[in-house]
Amino acid sequence: MDTAGAVLRAVLDHGPVARSSVARATRLSAASVSGVTTSLIGRGLVREAPEAAGPPGIGRPTVPLDIDPGAVAVIGVHIAVPHATVALLDLRGRVIEQHREPHGERDPARVLAGLAERIGKLRRRRRILGVGVATGGWVDAVAGTVVEHPALGWRDVPVAAVLSKATRFPVRVDSNSRALLRAEQLFGEVAARARRSAVHMFVGNVVDVAFATGGVVHQGPRSASGAVAHLSVEGCSERCSCGRTGCLQAAVSEQTLVRRAQVSGLPELLARAEDGDAYALSLFHERARLVGRAAALLLDLFDPEVLVVAEAGANRIPACRATLRAEVAAWSTAGADVEQVVRATSFPLTVLAVAGGAVALDQVYAEPLSPART
Ligand SMILES: [Zn+2]
Repeated sequence: MDTAGAVLRAVLDHGPVARSSVARATRLSAASVSGVTTSLIGRGLVREAPEAAGPPGIGRPTVPLDIDPGAVAVIGVHIAVPHATVALLDLRGRVIEQHREPHGERDPARVLAGLAERIGKLRRRRRILGVGVATGGWVDAVAGTVVEHPALGWRDVPVAAVLSKATRFPVRVDSNSRALLRAEQLFGEVAARARRSAVHMFVGNVVDVAFATGGVVHQGPRSASGAVAHLSVEGCSERCSCGRTGCLQAAVSEQTLVRRAQVSGLPELLARAEDGDAYALSLFHERARLVGRAAALLLDLFDPEVLVVAEAGANRIPACRATLRAEVAAWSTAGADVEQVVRATSFPLTVLAVAGGAVALDQVYAEPLSPART
C-alpha cells in the first residue's frame, strides 16, 4: 500500500473525516495528506463533504473528506460453473447493479468474449477504475490465469490478458475465497478483526479457502493456497471430479444438492427451504454439518480472530447458521468462542458480485493513483 492508499483507506474507515485526523491515523505529515488528497479529489475517489462539517465558527472551516460514491466505479465479474455475474460496484464495495447470465457453452474463449461484451455495456455508466474477476479452482493471481478449474473444464486460461485486451481496462483475477476475504477486510462487518487474522471459506459449486494474517491474504509461491476441495469427509458416496469418492467439494457442491432435490438450481432450492420445505431444509442442514466439520479443522489449524463462511444456507437461514456453529463447536478442540469467531459472509445477497469487485478494489486501495487508471 502506498501513501495515497493509506490516505484512501483512512477516509474509507473514518469518513467523513478531517484532514488532520487522516494525518494522525496514517502518521503522515499534514502537507503530504493535503497533497495526496488533492490528487484523490481530482480523480473522483474522494470528495469534500460540506454537509458533514460543523457549524461555522471563527477561522477557516474544516471541510471533512469522504469516499466519493458517485464518480467512479469498478466492474466485478464472477465466473461460476453454470453462469457468470457482471456487476458495477462503488468504492465502498456496494453493488450498484448486477446481471447474471448462464454460459452458452463453457469453452473459455467464448465465455470470455461474452464477458467482454457485457463489461462493455456497463462501461458507459461511470469512469471505470478496473475490472476484477473471481472464480473457483486454482487461480494464479500474479499471472492472471485460471491454472485449473476442473468443474468448469478450464486449464491454463489467461483470463486477465484476454479480458484486458478486449476491454482495455486493467484486469485482475483471484480465487473466490481470497477475493471475499479481501472484501471482508475492506468493507465487512468485522473488518478490524479480519485485518488482524482471518480464514474464509467459500462453498458453492466449488469449495475454497483463504487465510490472512497482519492484513495480508496469503497467496503462496504457486498461488495455490486454499485448495480444500478434496478434504475427505465421512459418509459421502458422490464421485468427485478428481475420480475419488468422499471429497468435501463433491459432497456439498450446488450441483449435488440440485440433483438430489431435482430442482432447476440453487435459488429454487433456497426458496423452498426458506418456505419451510422439510427436504430442502434437510439438505442445507446436512451441508452445514459437513462444512462445519471442515471449518472446525480450519479453526484449530489457524486459530483466527474470525472465520467467515460464505454458504447459501448459513447465509440466509438462521437455523442452518446455528447448525454450522454447533458442528464447529462439537469438532473444534481449540476452545474458540464459536459464536464470536464463526460468521456468515457480510455480503449474503451480493456475494458473487462482491467477490469479483473486491479483486479490483483491492488494487484501487493499494495504489489509487496508479497511472494504469488515468
Ligand atoms: Zn476430489
